[in-house]
Formats: sequence, C-alpha cells, structure tokens
Amino acid sequence: MINQAQHALHTYFGYDSFRPGQDRMIESILDRKNALGIMPTGGGKSLCYQIPGLVMEGTALVISPLISLMRDQVDALNENGISATYINSTLTAAETRERLQNLREGRYKFVYAAPERFDSASFFNAVSDIELSLIAFDEAHCISQWGHDFRPSYRTIVDTIRLLPNLPVLTALTATATDKVIQDITSLLSIDPHHIVNTGFARDNLSFHVVKGADKHSFLTSFLKEKKDETGIIYTATRKEADQLTGWLNQQNRSAVCYHAGLPEEERNEAQRKFIYDEAKLIVATNAFGMGIDKSNVRFVIHYQLPMNMESYYQEAGRAGRDGEPADCYLLYSPQDSMLQKFLIEQSIANERKRNEEYAKLQQMINYCHSHSCLPRFILEYFEDHQMTADCGHCSSCLDSREKTDRTREVQMILSTVKRMGERFGTGLTAKVLKGSRNKKLIEAGLDRVTTYGLMNQKSEKQITELIQLLIAEGFIALEGGQYPTLKLTQDALPVLKGEQEVWLKSGFQLHQQQADYDEPLFEQLRQVRSSLAKEHAVPPYVIFSDATLREMAQHYPETEEDMRAIKGVGERKLQSYGSPFTEVVAAYIKEHGKNNHMVPVPGPAEPKKPQVTGDPDLPSHLFSYELYQEGKSITEIAKLRQLTGQTIERHLQKAYEEGHSLDFSNWFTEETERLILTTRDQMEIPGLKPLKESLPEEISYTQIKMALVKNQLV
Ligand code: ADP
Ligand code: MG
Repeated sequence: MINQAQHALHTYFGYDSFRPGQDRMIESILDRKNALGIMPTGGGKSLCYQIPGLVMEGTALVISPLISLMRDQVDALNENGISATYINSTLTAAETRERLQNLREGRYKFVYAAPERFDSASFFNAVSDIELSLIAFDEAHCISQWGHDFRPSYRTIVDTIRLLPNLPVLTALTATATDKVIQDITSLLSIDPHHIVNTGFARDNLSFHVVKGADKHSFLTSFLKEKKDETGIIYTATRKEADQLTGWLNQQNRSAVCYHAGLPEEERNEAQRKFIYDEAKLIVATNAFGMGIDKSNVRFVIHYQLPMNMESYYQEAGRAGRDGEPADCYLLYSPQDSMLQKFLIEQSIANERKRNEEYAKLQQMINYCHSHSCLPRFILEYFEDHQMTADCGHCSSCLDSREKTDRTREVQMILSTVKRMGERFGTGLTAKVLKGSRNKKLIEAGLDRVTTYGLMNQKSEKQITELIQLLIAEGFIALEGGQYPTLKLTQDALPVLKGEQEVWLKSGFQLHQQQADYDEPLFEQLRQVRSSLAKEHAVPPYVIFSDATLREMAQHYPETEEDMRAIKGVGERKLQSYGSPFTEVVAAYIKEHGKNNHMVPVPGPAEPKKPQVTGDPDLPSHLFSYELYQEGKSITEIAKLRQLTGQTIERHLQKAYEEGHSLDFSNWFTEETERLILTTRDQMEIPGLKPLKESLPEEISYTQIKMALVKNQLV
C-alpha cells in the first residue's frame, strides 16, 4: 500500500518524498487505525488524508470548519485531476441536490463539509449508503473546548458519525498541541496513543527576525525594495495605524490593500480577494485578518508593531511560507508599542486577574524582542515544545555575528542597584539611578542616596535601559506586577552578584547577507505566465503552481515535458493542463539570456575587494567605519577606503564604543602602556590631551592615548 501512496504522491502532486510525519500518518490510516497528526501550519497535513483517500476505495469525507478553506482545497484537488467537491451553505438548493446525487453515485473521491451538514438527514442518508474510505477532521482542535477555537458542532457530530453503519477509519489533524487538546481529541475519536504523530511546532522554513529601534518607514522602504515582487502581510496593532500605513505605502507606489474590522464588509472582502489573487502584493491588516487564509505563497509577514502575546504572534507569523519555501517573519520593535499594548489591555479587560495574565504574556513578548537566544527556540519553549535540539542558525539572534564580551561588572552594578532599591521600582527609575539623573521623582524618593547612584554615568540612559531589558529577557531579573511592573532579582542573579558567575553578552553592530539561488528574472516571467493562466481559469495563482514550484523551474530550466515532470509540484494532470506555457517561456528565455543567470560569479584574484554594506543602507557613518573595523581593517585602511582622515575614523570608533559596541583595544596598546597612560594622567593637574602626550614617552602615539581614554571612559 505504501508504494501506492508513494506513487500517488508523485503522479497527483508531483512530489518525490513525504514530509516528516506524513508517512507514519498515512501508514496508520491505510492500516485502518484511527490516527492524530499534530504538525505545524504548512507542515502538509492535507496530504495525510488525501493520499490514503486516493489509494483506498470509496469516498473520503473531510470535516472542515471554514467555507473559504474548503473551496481552496477543492480547487487544488480538482487542479490535480482529482474529483472532489464541497457541500455547504453557499450552494443553492439545486446545486446541493445535484452534488448529493453525484455523491450517491460514488463520483467523488473527496467531499468537504462543515460539521453542521451532518444535521441534515438527506446528507446523512446519502453518506450512509455509499462506500467511505475515511473521515478526516481537519483543524481538529475545534473539537476541544481547551483549544483556542472551540466549535460545539465539531464535538456533537462525533456522536452522529458513530451512528454510521459504514463507519470508516477516522483521522484528525491539527497544529495545536497542548496536552489537554490532544487528550480530548484522542478520547473522543478513539485514537490509540501509538497512532499519534507529533512533529512539533517548529517551522524550519521560517526565519525570524527582531528589528529594534529602527525607523520603521526606512526599514520598510529598504526591505520592500529588496522584496519588490513578493507577497507579504504587514500586521499593525490598531486600525488607525493600518489605515495610515496603507496610505503611506500607496504613496510609495506599493500596491497595498487594507483589512480591519472597522471597514465595510464589501471593502474587506475585496481587499482579501485582491491579495489572494496576487493583484495586491501587500495587505496591511489588524489581527482581524487571517483566519482561514490558506494562501501558500506569502513570503513575509512583518509585525509593524508589537503583538499582544506569543500565541497571536506565532499564528500570524505562521501565515508566511505555508508552501514550505523559505519565508521571513520580522517584528519591528519599539518601546512605545509595549505602552500601546498595555493601554489596549487596560481598555479591553475589566477583570483584574485576567488583565494581569495578559500583562504577563505581553512581557514574554517583550522578552522575545530583547532576547539574545535563538528566536524559534524561545518561541517553542514558550509553547513547551522541547523537540528542538539545535539552534536554528538563521534567525536574527543566530545570525548576530557579534562577539560576546564579559559584561559581568556592569551586570553586577545593575543587579545590586535593583536590590538596593528594595526591588520596588521599574526599569525607568532604575536606569535613572544608575545614570545619576536629577529626576524629581527620584530625588523625592531619596534614591540619589542609593550607593550605586551614578555608577554608570558614562552610559546613556537608553543604553542602561537596554541592558536591563536584556537581563530581563535572559532571566536574571523578573518583572512583577501588572501595568507598572517592578524589577525583582531571580535565582540566577545571586551567583552573579556574589562574583561566582560571569556574564558574557553580545554587543556591537551586526550585518547579514542574502543571495538568490535561482534565476530571478526568469522567475518573474514564470510568475506572469501563472498570473494570466490564473485569470483565465478563475483560480488563485498558487493553485496552479506554488512559488516553490516556480522557483524550481527558475533553477532547472525545464524546456521539455520530460524536464517538467522532474520539477517538484508538477503532477501528471498539471503537466497536461499547464506545462506547455511554462516550457515555452523557459525555452524562449534560454535563447535570449542563456542559463545560469543566478550563478554568483567567483571573484578573480585581480578583482579589488570593495567594502560593501549589505545590511541597512541608512547605516550611520560611524557604524559603517565600525563595521569595517570589525572586519579586521586598520584605522589607516578604513580612512583610505572611505577617504576620510584617521582622526575621523577614531571618532567614529569612539562613538560606536560609547553606544555599546565592543572594541578590541589590544590592537592599540598593551596593558602596560595603558597603565602608564592612566597613572601619568592621574598625576597631572590639568589632564589635557596635549600635556599628557608631552608627559609620556615619545613612542606612545596620540591614537594610543585617545583610545586608552576612550576605553576607560575618560573622554
Ligand atoms: P497544513 O494544512 O499542514 O497547514 P498544507 O496541507 O496546506 O499544510 O500543505 C502546505 C503546502 O505544503 C502545500 O503547498 C503542499 O502542497 C505542500 N506539501 C505537502 N506535502 C508535501 C511534500 N511531501 N513535499 C512537498 N510539498 C508538500
Ligand atoms: Mg490545513
């Protein structure tokens, strides 16, 4: 049987191998054992019942909660040459009768229905009279009142289904994996624990990024320039922001539509339609958008503002990359956003206990933004999924190439300040005490008498605040209390305070690079072919071929039917209906441009090495110098490259250092030289740079002196 399954996977869907967990699910079902599959969004749950449904005799019933999902799934099956239909409330009475008649005649391999449909006697009777291959509960968490989307009708039909004289094997699929939900589903549907397949929550194709403190408009400008033709969702926290951002994007000539609950229904539906049919590349939306959106080629999801909690974040971000292709999830964080979310919680939740729960969840979300740990790991641990063994290697934390430096002393200063302030104050006031601020509230509370007052006056208040936030995210400090939380030391803080443990943290600036491994201009042409075919056939473009499949074509240049058959996602049926327009375009393209336009040329030895900033084009000048310095270039080299003076570069590095980026001072002086400079300076009445230079041995340069002062925060 499993050979037949493999064969069906290849001929109908054009895929060569099963995704993790699919094979085990399919084996159980073919073995007539009820089974539960827990796989992340985009993990490929549909195939778990579609393949057995194709291999087995009879009709498969698929219970699905959302009408929009049914239509998509049925369209996709039909496009693959599989007879399938749905029966739901959008049909006229005549249409329903006709489909029921076809159903009785066994003409469908798959019938999708909402649970309510089983209340109808004509449906139930028709179903009891035919051969059934299986019944699948898609989005099975709807069965459970512990799930986030409980639907009572999902639960009650289980009893009705059990009355079927021809009851087939049952299977349930969901992306929600809490123990309670699993227990509920398995007991209701009589699923033996041996037939639970849990691949965990991880979405390996998603790259998570947190962008802190950036100007959001400039971030979008450069990001969208890079992702010119790709489809994405931008989530905002409020309707107002969604409206404004849509307006701004359209001014920038980006085709963006807007979706939120404040818009008239027609307008909302139209926005959704345009987005699904690729007529608008971008949709700017509040959390009202997304339920039941199965669009597979969403290449990025940007959270323009901080979401309220990890549950909504992961669900919304998870709408990217459902086709299994790489996709990006960005969260743009600014501290004001957490104020906004607190305000929203305050406004919307009256019950105090519940409100505090929400504040705690929000705090986790903020911790996520400040964490230096692997981001998917952070998320999965939040959901108590402990299956991830290694760091992802492609989130913004993992890509952060900055070196860790020993920050134990500063951390101790902060921790002891929290303690000395009686663990009764929040982040803001603690930072002010360390900075030595003359803030009125601080003075009135007598906090200027705390012994660590002003101990970090060399740093800006912002830098101190960020360090405190990092310590919260890394678990040295906890926040307690609802709206105005206070800092408390955790167990982990004590060994640091006692000097038994060092704290190494990353600091400095980071950069990252990306490269396409396919022929981008060809991909664009293929996309246009797809778009016109989609219009002609009145289906969403991704139903014809997914982005993943087009990208494969743009890698392998299929010119013939045979070539095309080897492309992932091209089954027999699609090859016949759509193959030739694509092979034609590929052939014409090769004639004009040749192959391998995506190959990155290997730089020859004669090619001058040019410094390049691939990260942010708006990178401030001093950080550009700093970056070059981090690459191992000397001040003289940087000055030459940038056509600036050495002194300017020194100033750049100094500034970067003051902002918290690390510098390796051993490039400039030994410990001995440093000590000499400092003691000489100590003995001087007026420690100006020139008198200091004159008092020191001649071979100690101005640069060395300057850098020693920078290091010791004496300038
Ligand atoms: P889910 O319901 O788990 O969110 P879907 O069943 O909608 O995910 O599948 C997501 C995407 O993955 C679809 O585009 C599907 O065609 C693709 N897919 C599923 N199984 C495979 C496979 N074995 N190989 C390649 N692509 C697959
Ligand atoms: Mg699904």
